[in-house]
Amino acid sequence: MIIVLLGPPGTGKGTQAAAVKNRFGIPHISTGDIFRRNLAEGTPLGLKAKGYMEKGELVPDGLVLELVSDRLREPDCAKGFLLDGFPRTPVQAEELDRLLALQGTRIDHVALLEAPDGTVVGRLSGRRVCKSCGAVWHQTHNPPPESMICPKCSGEIYQRADDAAEAVLNRLKVYASQTGPLIGYYENKGLIRRVDGSKPPAEVEKALFQALS
Ligand code: AMP
Repeated sequence: MIIVLLGPPGTGKGTQAAAVKNRFGIPHISTGDIFRRNLAEGTPLGLKAKGYMEKGELVPDGLVLELVSDRLREPDCAKGFLLDGFPRTPVQAEELDRLLALQGTRIDHVALLEAPDGTVVGRLSGRRVCKSCGAVWHQTHNPPPESMICPKCSGEIYQRADDAAEAVLNRLKVYASQTGPLIGYYENKGLIRRVDGSKPPAEVEKALFQALS
């Protein structure tokens, strides 16, 4: 099963990806997580991506495509995978189709998580995450411990640079102009499954599983 999770930042793609991964037993490939890991480790890839990420801009297609084509060749992808945060531009989408065709496969579903801008701005600007294990809190709905030490893994809880209000607005603009066109691209192929991402996570999960069945 090959699934793409599409939707603006803050619609719960990361949360739902974990559920889909468990349900279908396929690896969760988040290009954002891969970039953040490289940034934390100070690798050349991380250093190249840093400036774009902090401003909420997209990393150039060439860098992203190299990373994804390497990742998809790993053995755990043989039975399918879930892509989260990729593709994000028409060039990336076309290149993904080409890569998959070379392997004799294609995308089964594109799940589109949707939520109004006001909802995602509120979610992202209040979001705090653990640098080590990725656990998530929200300043008002689910506040992190005052110590800002993760109770699960003792990692540091922080605000992602791109969750600051200015970067969030930029990410939404970038999504609308560069990623939005992918909805039509996948609609033409009959692959889009729309899911309301403004609901609580358990309801979104239920609707998502239904859409993928
Ligand atoms: P995310 O966690 O998916 O919101 O990604 C965080 C940041 O990583 C994005 O704002 C981009 O700077 C970069 N990034 C992640 N995936 C991609 C992609 N497919 N294309 C370009 N940039 C990406």
